[in-house]
Amino acid sequence: MTVDPELLEILVCPNDRGDIDYLSEEQVIVCRMCGYRYPVRDGIPVMLIDQAEKPGTKKKRR
Ligand SMILES: [Zn+2]
Repeated sequence: MTVDPELLEILVCPNDRGDIDYLSEEQVIVCRMCGYRYPVRDGIPVMLIDQAEKPGTKKKRR
């Protein structure tokens, strides 16, 4: 399952509107500005600050 490249082009970080990188191996989207990591579920990027993994914080699961 891969993310639509056209979708990736229009996506920005909801935190700071920075450009994002898609890491297909990890299935995450990383903001180049703040480093927040957004999960990708079934090819759908979950661009929610609430769901993001912040840099420097321990991974937490609910
Ligand atoms: Zn950001």
